[in-house]
Amino acid sequence: MPYVLVSQASRAELDAVADARWTAIVAERPELDSAVGLQRQLVERVIALRATLDASRLPRLSLPGRYIAAKLARGVPALAGEPIPFPVAILTETLLGLCGDLAAGGAGEAAEHIHTQVESGGLDAGSLLAASLSRNQDAIRTGAVHRGLASDLVWLVAELAVGPFAYVLQRTLFAPAGDGPGAAPAGPVATALDGWNQGYCPACGSWPAMAEVVEGHRVLRCSFCAAAWELTTYACVYCGEEGEPFVTAAPDEERKDRRVEVCGSCRGYLKTVDTLALSPFPLLSIGDLETMDLDMAAMEHGYQRPPLKDFATKR
Ligand SMILES: [Zn+2]
Ligand SMILES: [Zn+2]
Repeated sequence: MPYVLVSQASRAELDAVADARWTAIVAERPELDSAVGLQRQLVERVIALRATLDASRLPRLSLPGRYIAAKLARGVPALAGEPIPFPVAILTETLLGLCGDLAAGGAGEAAEHIHTQVESGGLDAGSLLAASLSRNQDAIRTGAVHRGLASDLVWLVAELAVGPFAYVLQRTLFAPAGDGPGAAPAGPVATALDGWNQGYCPACGSWPAMAEVVEGHRVLRCSFCAAAWELTTYACVYCGEEGEPFVTAAPDEERKDRRVEVCGSCRGYLKTVDTLALSPFPLLSIGDLETMDLDMAAMEHGYQRPPLKDFATKR
């Protein structure tokens, strides 16, 4: 079935898995030591926010199952175009903390400027977070440029701060019974998810950060809400090309377990990695760092990750 329920990990499990992966990255590529140091801080903050959200009474999102199922059947992600109430104060605190981490971790003044603008209200945190949640790249870019801020960095901090909330929403919608034994999605939403065969996320509409291949199953992993889903076709996730222009290659002959899917039709690429288990939220970002060389190889050959699809006006 296309939607794959990823087991939630305990704090201790997350720490152990993350630590082992970071240690391995630095052992193999010592030059990534400071990048790993920064990521440790960012992931720590994201995990802390996730715990705070779990312990908080969150605004209720009441989207009936049949309504979500009808959207999915039209190829529209469940959250697209929905006005979603979210805990602005809690997320803003994390947003400011992330700006501080990035400022100290190499982004310097560019991150400090964002911090100052958010703190003074020059850049409204609520609007920024809402734009990120609705995946509105244009709004964030325009707002950043208008204030002389680095737009990629604004996008990044907002995405990191809202990601845990998007993850909670995704689970609430698709796996309301949790992930205990036998708690697979049920009802009209589950049926609609079974028919989902799009390269973008059924919850939020983002493209996958990468595909994790477990026992031959190519599972796409959302770069934002960490949803996991499989396609029924082996084709380009961006444009559906499945003919000759769609090629899967391993840039490093010695490491056939790490590949890139590249598409000559849309010039998009997707990283694909064999792994023993799907990464629990929020450890997918470590996978992204582990495979930075694949991004380099794809980009050197003129391939890109395309911009997000625009669902802003679709419901
Ligand atoms: Zn998603
Ligand atoms: Zn394509």
